[in-house]
Amino acid sequence: MIENRMFEEEPDVVDLAKDSCHYRSLDPDDVVYEPRSSRLLVRGLGENDMDEDDEDCESSARLLGMSFMNRSGAHRSLSSPYTRQGAPRSCARPSARTLVVCMLFLVIVASMTMVLYFLPGCTFTRSGCPKTNTTIPFEKVYPVSTSGEVFPWAQLRLPRSIRPLSYDLTLNPDLDSMTFTGRTIIHMSVLHNTKCIVLHSAYLNITKATFKARGVTVLEYKPREQIAVAFTEVLKTGQDCVLTLEYSANLSHTYDGFYNSSYTEKDGSKRVLAATQFEPLSARKAFPCFDAPDFKATFLIRIRRKPNHLSLSNMPKAKTTQLPNDVIEDEFEKTSVNMSTYLVAFIVANFTHISRNVSETQVSVYSVPEKWEHTDYALDTGCKLLEFYNGFFEINYPLKKLDLVAIPDFLAGAMENWGLITFRETSLLVGKQSSNLEKQVVASVIAHELAHQWFGNLVTMRWWNDLWLNEGFATYMQYMSLQTVFPQLDIGNLFLAVRFRALDKDALNSSHAVSTEVNKPEQVEEMFDSVSYEKGASILLMLNASLPGDQQFRKGIIQYLKEFSGLNTDTNDLWNSLTQLLFLKSPLEVMMSSWTSQKGFPLVTVSRKGGQVTLTQEHFRLTSDNATQTSSLWIIPVTYVTDNCSVAPECRRTFYLKTKSGKTQSITCNIDVKWVKVNYRNTGFYITHYEDGGWAALIDALSHNVSVLTHEDRASLVHNMFALSRLGRVSFHQVLHLLKYMSNETHTSPVTEALLQLGVIYRLLDKRQEHRLVARMKSYILHQFGSLMDKQTWEEEDSVSKQELRSALLGMACSLNEEKCISQSRALFKQYVESNGTSIPGDLQQVVFTVAAQSNEDWATLLTMYGQATYDAEKRKMLRGLASTQDARLIVWVLKAGLRGDVIQTQELPLVISTVCNGFTGYLFVWDFIQENWDSLIEKFPVGSFAIQTIIKSATSHFSTQAHLDQVCLFFLNILRERGSQMRSVQEALETIRLNQRWMEKNLATLEKWL
Ligand SMILES: [Zn+2]
Repeated sequence: MIENRMFEEEPDVVDLAKDSCHYRSLDPDDVVYEPRSSRLLVRGLGENDMDEDDEDCESSARLLGMSFMNRSGAHRSLSSPYTRQGAPRSCARPSARTLVVCMLFLVIVASMTMVLYFLPGCTFTRSGCPKTNTTIPFEKVYPVSTSGEVFPWAQLRLPRSIRPLSYDLTLNPDLDSMTFTGRTIIHMSVLHNTKCIVLHSAYLNITKATFKARGVTVLEYKPREQIAVAFTEVLKTGQDCVLTLEYSANLSHTYDGFYNSSYTEKDGSKRVLAATQFEPLSARKAFPCFDAPDFKATFLIRIRRKPNHLSLSNMPKAKTTQLPNDVIEDEFEKTSVNMSTYLVAFIVANFTHISRNVSETQVSVYSVPEKWEHTDYALDTGCKLLEFYNGFFEINYPLKKLDLVAIPDFLAGAMENWGLITFRETSLLVGKQSSNLEKQVVASVIAHELAHQWFGNLVTMRWWNDLWLNEGFATYMQYMSLQTVFPQLDIGNLFLAVRFRALDKDALNSSHAVSTEVNKPEQVEEMFDSVSYEKGASILLMLNASLPGDQQFRKGIIQYLKEFSGLNTDTNDLWNSLTQLLFLKSPLEVMMSSWTSQKGFPLVTVSRKGGQVTLTQEHFRLTSDNATQTSSLWIIPVTYVTDNCSVAPECRRTFYLKTKSGKTQSITCNIDVKWVKVNYRNTGFYITHYEDGGWAALIDALSHNVSVLTHEDRASLVHNMFALSRLGRVSFHQVLHLLKYMSNETHTSPVTEALLQLGVIYRLLDKRQEHRLVARMKSYILHQFGSLMDKQTWEEEDSVSKQELRSALLGMACSLNEEKCISQSRALFKQYVESNGTSIPGDLQQVVFTVAAQSNEDWATLLTMYGQATYDAEKRKMLRGLASTQDARLIVWVLKAGLRGDVIQTQELPLVISTVCNGFTGYLFVWDFIQENWDSLIEKFPVGSFAIQTIIKSATSHFSTQAHLDQVCLFFLNILRERGSQMRSVQEALETIRLNQRWMEKNLATLEKWL
């Protein structure tokens, strides 16, 4: 899967200060649940143990529909580990009287809770307490199923005693009533003696169940979305058996499971369709199944439909049968591969398609009929990339067909279902006059999803804790393949920028290890973040760059794919496989585990005395609580160049920094070397600080000639300098000193990185209403980048890199109300309206629409055009324009329309919210909007999902005051707690506000002097 915002724009990252707060991170170890007084648990029954106390507590809480929210160990109550918590102590500054009252209250609550806790939970249930055998010290504890009987399994993950071999699915969707019925026949093998079959099912009404031709009773335990059939006799090891389940359900109104979607054609007629999105945990909403990545099986799928629709699934159609009542049944070939349930897909719609063959595979692109003319680019790109991957991996794509389908309602960017990849329309369709920048978006998403056909589909992570094996690889291959197959798309700048953003996120204490423990559904959802994707990709790039020769890495991953084809793996399998093949002397596993098993990344400090260069490492942690440094150690393949030879690849020198914080390692260089630049082309995932005049020497070199370093090295100096100022290692004055060289800068990535970082500070100052500083910052930016802004043209431009540069520069100029930029934009918009939408280069549309939306008259024109536009990339830019208005009434309208989903699709709400938040007028409206509509939001977007992560981050990252910190803190403690969730993104939001606040406290007084 690829999330929509991951590939197309750089999120705002606002983490500007070294923090010493005591709010600890959400390490899995910290997560505690609140056992409640009432426990409806049945004790001493069944064959399977419940392993963990956490499971026990969670199940009882969920069973009762109660909520629980984790908190860090630092905030556990002193009186009892089980009492409910007040706000974290850093959230508010209570008065002394409040403290006394709170203490009294806490003591009373704690005492009551302890009494209640030690009473059996069943004390308050109607049935009272079952008699228990008090002589047995450890009892087995099971939950109660919906029907009141004992549910024979008590863990989130399924038992290993049964393995599914094949599924035979028949689905009968009714697009008039928005319901469906289904029948699932599961062939299974018994791996260990057992008396029950446990599998997943969610929101399905099971109407009939048979096992060995006899009717059986199905038990359901809704909190874990599990069903079970219990037997009186043991199912013996080695036995094969068949379970048949018939059921009915509603088509989902959200974006997961088997969901309905609709769109309006040009003539105003409404069309409906049904599609699926199963990753990560939603296959169970369409058919009962063993819904975990390592329960692979084959699938034979039949879909019933009306004659005016077609149906698609993972495999080619095998036959079509006419049934009574004008119903047609399509049967698809049985899958030729074993696959995980999250990769199953089917669609019923009236789409049209174009096709082409690549070796043994038919590649097709499907869209709604009136957008078929936008499908050519996707077909061409898909075919070229499929050919490339077939050759690169030396394993051919295993299926006979590969469909790429644009779905009108689709929350993520795209999903890699085997043989039936689904996309958002903006990620697949390209207009005839689209710019290369728009093509870059589509090509990246296709490259990502095609890479998954090997990384993810052929070889799959064993559990969601290693999601990076899917997503990190697909992200890495996405950039690598585009660099090779479509060099004209200049994908390198984007890859560099996303690596910087991954560093920024991973610097927070709320980050997590690439491979981390995952136990709860919302934790599974939250794994879809920049750590799994971009940090995963970054460490693969670092590994590749540190291996000798350019084919070692490729050989290694081919070996890995062949060794584990059709199987599931964990991170160690990858490192073992690579180590064996590469015959490395130093164990690769030890080095790479240091990057995947701990969160964060190192700060490498370089100091030089004559020919002696000394390096040390420490954890780069923005939220450092001033405690002693952690003992984190990374084995870092440090690369460096010097002024003697600094640009060509052969200049690069590598050595391994392996000593812990506080200890140094040295290298020697010629005494006449003027400067050393570490992390050549920024292929390493770390930040570098230069002591003893190291920074000054580099800045001096750049001020004379920017070409002494590659553009990646220059951009990394800019990024690292800003990061170090956030950490407090350098002053903001030093940042400005480095940026002086910018007037000579010629390349995109250093400029866009500097603009992004300055933009974040500008917006924070703006929202604090620091008017004088805002004015100074504005004139600083216009002065520093003015000549570059002036050089930009407004005509068609082919080079993607130049398009990126000018859209960033002109976007900044117009947002600062620079006169020339504004008048040029207005003129282009006028032309655009008069010529009926054909005269703005694609990369400048965003700037032009944003300027237009600032006038109410043009805003209304833009809204009309938005309603009529059929080309989605353009439509999305119009929407961002509409959401950038500074008129309060229009802002409220846009937010409400996004939530309603009529004029503006609800899938665009995260984009609307983030755009509104950038402006001064809207960011407080958004915060109110989120608080008022939280329940509706999490009905539409799953808790923990990337959409919710984006919404929380957008709404809170502009705050920098104690009052806002308290509000955000209270809201999530009081409201979210009732929903029973823990979210890392909330932790990140609180941390970010605190960092903003501290940066302001530290720098406001001196900014005026420096600017
Ligand atoms: Zn993906």
